[in-house]
Amino acid sequence: MSSPRTNLRDLTHEETRAFAATLGLEPWRGDQIFRWVHGRAVDSVEEMTDLNKKLRAELGEQAEIARLGIDLEQISRDGTRKLRLKTADGRMLETVLIPDGDAGAEDDATDETAEAEPAEPDSEFRGGRKPVVVPEHLQHALFPQRPKLTQCVSSQVGCALDCTFCATAKLGFGRNLTAGEIVDQVYRAEILLRDLPADDPTRRAGASHITNIVFMGMGEPLHNYANVVRALGILTDPMGQDFSRRRITLSTAGLVPAIEKFAGEATALQVNLAVSLNASNDRVRDELMPINKKYPIARLLEAVRKVPLDRRRRVTFEYVLLDGVNDAIEDAVALAKLVRSIPCKVNLIPWNPHPLSPYRRPTDARVKAFQEELRARGLAVYVRRSRGDDIDAACGQLAAKAAPPTENPLVPLRTR
Ligand code: SAH
Repeated sequence: MSSPRTNLRDLTHEETRAFAATLGLEPWRGDQIFRWVHGRAVDSVEEMTDLNKKLRAELGEQAEIARLGIDLEQISRDGTRKLRLKTADGRMLETVLIPDGDAGAEDDATDETAEAEPAEPDSEFRGGRKPVVVPEHLQHALFPQRPKLTQCVSSQVGCALDCTFCATAKLGFGRNLTAGEIVDQVYRAEILLRDLPADDPTRRAGASHITNIVFMGMGEPLHNYANVVRALGILTDPMGQDFSRRRITLSTAGLVPAIEKFAGEATALQVNLAVSLNASNDRVRDELMPINKKYPIARLLEAVRKVPLDRRRRVTFEYVLLDGVNDAIEDAVALAKLVRSIPCKVNLIPWNPHPLSPYRRPTDARVKAFQEELRARGLAVYVRRSRGDDIDAACGQLAAKAAPPTENPLVPLRTR
């Protein structure tokens, strides 16, 4: 029997060169192949038109390019788009496109209740002979909010962490996604966007390309550390998508050893870290997030403090607000004390309902009061608007249902 073909989608740039070498090819051939697989995101060796026929035939014998199938596409009233994707071995995962992106990447200023925080502008003009550096205080005036499109990607099928409020937890753990399956979520999205008509709700509401990536879909990215880091390398490679590391955020429920590892590599990785804190004391956090029994808040924050932050960088703390559970003013006071010595911002996420957990979302007034208390204590705090909740695409609602959702006339469904 012939050995299985190598999946080129899974290979980093270096690995692609090494693979090319096994076929007796020069490194620049490896670059060429990498460009096709990750820059142009083609799905077959046949499409690599600058490789001659013989070479393509040889390559095709040894290698293939796996892609995710689009199993279901749902579009929310607000332009948010959820894709249910299928792996080669039939597993389902979900990814969400969020126009104007307030999913916790560079800024969350799209929410009217948030403090104004400018979208990250280009740091220089390239019009003249010499680049002109724009002083920080002028940047917002010169670069008003540009449309954003944040993609929320999955790192695992299901999740092992069992947080009580999260729908994905109810699926249990399926398996880790490979680096190829992680990056292919972005390729599926970009290819889909390329073909959207101008009047499409996602296109109308956001940018025409993915501008930010957040690892806040299904799974715990730091549980799948190696593949996530490989995926980061591929996505940010200049011959791949050349995605900006500063516009990528990993979100963790608090795996302390992995955060420590991340801290050691953060200077090279250059991506943002978000930590789902979700409670202001161990009693409540133990209850909501079983991982807290292993790594309680003090240890978690100690690990977070080790993450080196350059001048403009902050850690994000996410805090799901559950009515009557963790949303009291005393919680805000305690939360402020916990995080005040860490350069950070706080993202409040009013709980997004799903039938698998018994919680309630707090009233807007309660959310506002919680936010004000934190703000009064000097914290940068944003309320994450819930996006795509009419298609179960908001935080903590991803559960890759096997059956299509019930029909809703307001939500056009497109099944492929
Ligand atoms: N496992 C990672 C990545 C998942 S991100 C992590 O825990 O950070 C998902 C974010 O949504 C987390 O901050 C989580 O606390 C939050 N979340 C989960 N379920 C939610 C729900 N039903 N409503 C609102 N936020 C939720």
